Amino acid sequence: MMPNGQTAASLDDFLSTESRAIARDCTACGKCVEVCPVVPFGLAASAAPKDVVGSVIGFLNGAPSMTDQADAWTSSCNGCGDCIPVCPEAINPRKMLMLAATKQSQTASKTPELFRRMARAIKIMAAMQLIPAEFTRLFVPPRPRAAPIVFYLGCNALRTPHLLFNAMQVLDGLEADYEVVGGPSSCCGVIATKWEGATGTGQRVTNNTISRFEGFQPEKVLNWCPTCELHLGETLQGYRKTNFSLDHITAYLISRIDDLAAQFRTPVRRRAVLHIHAGRSDVGRAVERLLHLMPGLDLAETVVESGYTCGGSGCSKCPDLAAAEHAQLLERVRATGADTLVTLYHGCHATFVGAEKDGAFEVLNFTDLLVEAMGGQPHRDMLKTYRLADDWHMILDEAEPYLKANGLHLDRDWLRQHGPDIFASAEFRGGLDCLGSHAGETAKN
Ligand code: SF4
Ligand code: SF4
Repeated sequence: MMPNGQTAASLDDFLSTESRAIARDCTACGKCVEVCPVVPFGLAASAAPKDVVGSVIGFLNGAPSMTDQADAWTSSCNGCGDCIPVCPEAINPRKMLMLAATKQSQTASKTPELFRRMARAIKIMAAMQLIPAEFTRLFVPPRPRAAPIVFYLGCNALRTPHLLFNAMQVLDGLEADYEVVGGPSSCCGVIATKWEGATGTGQRVTNNTISRFEGFQPEKVLNWCPTCELHLGETLQGYRKTNFSLDHITAYLISRIDDLAAQFRTPVRRRAVLHIHAGRSDVGRAVERLLHLMPGLDLAETVVESGYTCGGSGCSKCPDLAAAEHAQLLERVRATGADTLVTLYHGCHATFVGAEKDGAFEVLNFTDLLVEAMGGQPHRDMLKTYRLADDWHMILDEAEPYLKANGLHLDRDWLRQHGPDIFASAEFRGGLDCLGSHAGETAKN
């Protein structure tokens, strides 16, 4: 986004202009395909790199469709960003594929009801983990007031709410003056725009959320979610002018590193392996720097994985590569004798939290360690409790009081049947019909 002003064009016009500019500048040299780590795992490997990217460029330039190889490349992009530094024309090929994926979903979305399903799944998962005051804080936007900082949660991080409350505890410890904006009512718009191909809806959703930020007249909007970061800060960069900066929360923590260091008084006696992603390595490296500051913490290794995050829009786009890298990460935890695996984003935490089951190491988010180092008590990780229970009778015994207290009265058998898919974010793979528009009100939420 750009400083100061208002929307210059419709989102459709903006995306078309960006697409044409890339199509004009790209020479179809194929270097971005050559370095791409997901290519060897799919159909794109069966065509010459120049032909694969040439078809993407043709599609962005108005051709009605892409070749199967180009479609495979586009749909398996995990956002790792390896292609960005190799482009001789200074094009961002990751953005090029985001634009192609958006155009593709306008033609035939594989997940036409994704937002509805995702929003209901998020609500159910958060309601299973939070007391009502916390639930309200995440789902009900606060009244506008002048606040220098907005902490923006995005949508899917509400599935792992403990790390958001940890982050708020850190901001409180730094005496930051902030308000929290998040949940499906404040989506960045990526679901409608990129996944559902509904750019009219995406434009409305994005503009509503940016206007909500502006209601606080903030100097900074601090992002948690890497998907929002890429959508608002990269794909839609320049779409709407704003008076605030958009940064990841870890950039803010680094800007306050002396204040944090002064508060890291409690030894964190752990030997840890940190999991980060190549797609926004600045975020991972910021966390690494924070961990190095913590007294008592022995950071044995940082393992960099492909993709910009774990989960549906990140590494899961190329499942075979993700499986190999996840196995390698767990192997490094074992080989280094670490007692703690430190996760980065919500998608990473949800992916690995169940790995604690073998009892050899703990899985904690970096926010758990920040709170611990500051002498606080990290928020209870109910997702971990449920994942480790792995028995939906036991899970429901624990979750039902939370659900009822948050006003969700769900049929126990229905939730036992669909809970595993809800916890696995199956809607991003076209699943969770039970939460779609044709499912009636089976889930009475
Ligand atoms: S961002 Fe990564 S996965 Fe996507 S095209 Fe570039 S190199 Fe390939
Ligand atoms: S590296 Fe750049 S110029 Fe070459 S094909 Fe990719 S986007 Fe086009």
